[in-house]
Amino acid sequence: MIYADYNATGPMLPEVFQAMSPFLQEEFGNPSAGSSALGKRAKDAIEHARLQVAQLVGADSSEIVFTSGATESCFLAILGAYLANGSTGSLSCSAVEHPAVLEPLSLLALPPFCARMNRIALDPNGLISESSLPDDGILTSIMLANNETGILFPVREIAKAVRQKGELMHSDVTQAVGRIDVNFCELGLDLMSFSAHKIGGPKGIGALVVRRGTKWLSPLRGGGQEGGQRGGTESVAGIVGFGRAAELARERLSNYAAVRIEKIRDTFEELLQGELVDLVVHGESVPRLPNTSSIQIDGILGSSLVEKLAGKKILISAGSACHTGKLEPSHVLLAMGLSTNSALSTVRISFGTLSKEEDAKGLSEAIVSEVRELRKRAIGELRTLLR
Ligand code: PLP
Repeated sequence: MIYADYNATGPMLPEVFQAMSPFLQEEFGNPSAGSSALGKRAKDAIEHARLQVAQLVGADSSEIVFTSGATESCFLAILGAYLANGSTGSLSCSAVEHPAVLEPLSLLALPPFCARMNRIALDPNGLISESSLPDDGILTSIMLANNETGILFPVREIAKAVRQKGELMHSDVTQAVGRIDVNFCELGLDLMSFSAHKIGGPKGIGALVVRRGTKWLSPLRGGGQEGGQRGGTESVAGIVGFGRAAELARERLSNYAAVRIEKIRDTFEELLQGELVDLVVHGESVPRLPNTSSIQIDGILGSSLVEKLAGKKILISAGSACHTGKLEPSHVLLAMGLSTNSALSTVRISFGTLSKEEDAKGLSEAIVSEVRELRKRAIGELRTLLR
């Protein structure tokens, strides 16, 4: 099997599973019942994990709020900013955000909220220009790295401009954490969201970082957990696993693991470009994540290639999604100015911790062979139609 879909998710690392194990069985204490030794151990384990996660992203541990994942974090960030800052003013995001950001903003655009929503267009390189930011905003949300193309956005510069206008700045950094240095403080953000399962942690756990003093009100209230910022009994095992995964990600970053992965990605692209001359690598000339390759192969349907490769136990993903039986091109690729055909001909390859050097060759050979087969079949079908 070749697994090259790390932007979707990755395997849980053995060290993470080991750290979590006791908290799935014998260490079952409720951290809110801190008066018992069992409860106290659970609370201490959460606080240790909070520090580990904070250290990975350059935040203070008091700024970390554990959630059920990046989707919840983005939702809380956006709704909380809206609740705290009133209903006048617009909410902005880039046109290439993940649905975790687009959907809560769309919800706020509906009655009874009727907030003004501003989707910022991209320039021809797929980047955002500061001049497209509105002057009357409450919150701007721009992702650090795009999940489909890996393109990196100038979040630090945008955050500076946004905050100078007195507006809040949120960034969904889910795809960037653990792959490049992400520093909450240096990015100058008010709010930041990410998930554990993209860095070898468990699924269903994430973090929202809230800068101290930010005008933000948690919309998820209950028993006062997480300092009253996110109600609900904590997933202790999940949080412990997240903490350990964060610690390992920090070690990998300081050991230049990203350089190894970038080499695999670059070798893969070179091999493929040598065989398929009309190949387009999206974002090739702009800063992008070291692990991601978004490639357009004309004359094939990305989803067909993904299916064919899956049959050979090679896992990648397509630049499209199947909604109610209809194939839809990716909104990200369309926002970058690609035609529907080009978007439907795009696939995403994303490498990660367990990727091996030989994956570059194995993957490129399998893609070339399947593409030739698919193109031959398409020509055959065309000939039959024209007959
Ligand atoms: N944001 C980005 C950029 C993502 O890629 C993802 C998941 O792929 C999410 C948010 C949502 O993460 P989760 O499903 O862990 O909540």
